[in-house]
Amino acid sequence: MSGVAAPLRVYWELTRACDLACRHCRAEAHPDRGVDELTTDECREVLRDLATAIAPPPHVIFTGGDPLKRPDLGALVREAAGLGLGVSVAPSATTRLTADVVGELKAAGVEGMSVSLDGATAARHDGIRGVPGCFDMTLRAAGSIVAAGIPLQINTLVCRETVDDLEAIAALVAGIGARRWSLFFLIAVGRGRVLTPLSAAEAERTLEWAASQAGRRPFVTSTTEAPHYRRIVVQRLRRAGRSVEQIRRSPVGRGFGVRDGSGILFIAANGDVTPSGFLPLVVGNVRRTRAAVLYRDDPVFRALRAPETFRGRCGACAFHALCGGSRARAWATTGDVLGEDPLCAWESDAAGEGGRS
Ligand code: SF4
Repeated sequence: MSGVAAPLRVYWELTRACDLACRHCRAEAHPDRGVDELTTDECREVLRDLATAIAPPPHVIFTGGDPLKRPDLGALVREAAGLGLGVSVAPSATTRLTADVVGELKAAGVEGMSVSLDGATAARHDGIRGVPGCFDMTLRAAGSIVAAGIPLQINTLVCRETVDDLEAIAALVAGIGARRWSLFFLIAVGRGRVLTPLSAAEAERTLEWAASQAGRRPFVTSTTEAPHYRRIVVQRLRRAGRSVEQIRRSPVGRGFGVRDGSGILFIAANGDVTPSGFLPLVVGNVRRTRAAVLYRDDPVFRALRAPETFRGRCGACAFHALCGGSRARAWATTGDVLGEDPLCAWESDAAGEGGRS
């Protein structure tokens, strides 16, 4: 097994409640909190479990819905930080996300925050999100986060409707002062069906473009549900004559092998555990079983950490240990969580070193 032995990042959907209703929301959020949400005490217990059962302690990302819809968010951030867990927050850009709230989260020990920006103008962003005024609130929130000295990540949806705007969004991300730009490649499930995913050829061109930006922008670029960005970066670095060790030490090298269920674990608002927020295969619930045990022992998680058993092109691919494809997209499009990721254009040759895209 060559996957990541313990979760590095725990994405925790504290609530599905959100005052926005974005067209492509993964959580299909609604305004009110669910009656089955984990209580504050249950959340504290899970945090203690994560801190004691996993070495090194993982980084926890509180997400939603909008985690600010929970009045105990600051207390949970403080608890996580006090336990030695790294902790980030991914709030929604609403009127709740004020400079004062950002300051409180900073005082509680938050190490990073992220907001979503899907267009370089109000017309583009609000059109994609389906929420008027969201663009202005996002820029205001981003400014407050940077001003507070909290490392900011901007998340951007990549699909047919946004791809021609990426260059302009990149310039905006740089101007805002973000540390990281994460490109989320649409998986057309849930509300995401209202938007159109890129073809494999379009994704390849987009990832090549993103890789070409490295060193020219003041932020690090990463991808969500497009791990073959690593294959593209590695191929470029090899062509530039970089050694294996230099590649491993690069920003992309530090993510090798991390994908849904391998280095990543997701806790839903009701405590259900899945390999990621985009892969709704429930393997258990933290109310009954420790998250670390589910990650370590559940057959689905174990299979997701064994890329040599993947099928189709991902199974045959020389890059599968560092990439492995989006397991969420394989599941959504083929029903086979170990199947190939159709967003990747790569065909390995028999030796695995050549191939073509
Ligand atoms: S074929 Fe699969 S494992 Fe290989 S680079 Fe593409 S997505 Fe990654």
